[in-house]
Amino acid sequence: MIKFLDIHKINHRFREEFQVAFSKSLDNSHFILGANVSKFEKEFSYYCGTKHCIGTANGLDALTLILKGYIQLGKLKKGDQVIVPANTFIATILSILHADLEPVLVEPHPDTYTISSDSDKSIYANAKALIMVHLYGQLADVESLQQLAKDYKLLLIEDAAQAHGASSSFGMAGNLGHAAAFSFYPSKNLGALGDGGAVTTNDSELDRNIRLLRNYGSEVKYTNEIIGVNSRLDDMQAAFLSIKLKRLDEDNERRRNIAKLYLNEIRNSKIKLPFYDGSKNHVFYAFVVEVDNREKFTNFLNENQIEWLIHYPIPPHRQEALKTFAHLQLPITEKIHNRIISLPMSPLLKDEEVQTLIRVLNAY
Ligand SMILES: *Cc1c(COP(=O)(O)O)cnc(C)c1O
Repeated sequence: MIKFLDIHKINHRFREEFQVAFSKSLDNSHFILGANVSKFEKEFSYYCGTKHCIGTANGLDALTLILKGYIQLGKLKKGDQVIVPANTFIATILSILHADLEPVLVEPHPDTYTISSDSDKSIYANAKALIMVHLYGQLADVESLQQLAKDYKLLLIEDAAQAHGASSSFGMAGNLGHAAAFSFYPSKNLGALGDGGAVTTNDSELDRNIRLLRNYGSEVKYTNEIIGVNSRLDDMQAAFLSIKLKRLDEDNERRRNIAKLYLNEIRNSKIKLPFYDGSKNHVFYAFVVEVDNREKFTNFLNENQIEWLIHYPIPPHRQEALKTFAHLQLPITEKIHNRIISLPMSPLLKDEEVQTLIRVLNAY
């Protein structure tokens, strides 16, 4: 059986270091906003090249708190439109709704699956912000979206939940807009041993606001300046993340090398391989192919003991929870959701497993 992603193996490499961190935490018992959180925040902002990093409870909250922070600062107000790709994970859209803003769903580019600037320009004139999602680990079209944000005075926010460590000549994921949200959900390229998230930004006012918001609107204990929430990164998770961050670049490099083998050696006209320009702008959170007959293909993978997943089987506007968006015509998004399938991708896939997968796919 070739596993889709072996989280146990990924974390097992750090077992001893985790145990030392756990013992230290247990001894000092500073579980909430202790020294490990500030240490990780420093390390991760340095890694992304940003001035600030604020740990949060998860990726959804990181996105929501960016939007609420902008509302607090008067840069957004209730009901403002926020542009978002229609094929994203539902969390991106939920964050907009949780902040009382209005999501405007746009079609992605059919090859990169990320939002591109050649969609209908009329939507930008009315919007106040745009969330670019670096879906599957590949950076969105940063250059043109930065230009678009300038032209239409949009706040440019990154959903970098799948793109830790992706980089281009414009900088690292997390430092490509006005603010960025990360998730440290266990399966992400940088994953905790539970939930976790972070915001990165160079905006010191936004930084201060999100620090207040995540902690009951409070900087000084029992003094509440604004109406906040409880969304803090656990101190112990921060300690684990500091340990794993040191291995992130190496792991991403291995993912890219596996992707290159797949791309070079899978030759089958029935399988559409992902677009990749060969640079570091992709960290292959997922290796996503497209096929015409997905059921036949998944049966074939099952017979050959290859695990797979679909990111994601139902587009957000077709979900019961978002039925107010069900009237939208989004043919590219729907086509993508009907055809995509994610193949095994992990920094710990063995060369033999990669070769087996290539052989099986060529025989489909
Ligand atoms: C994982 C993910 C999120 C949400 O992160 P959580 O930590 O699960 O809340 C948001 N956006 C995208 C694109 C994601 O993949």
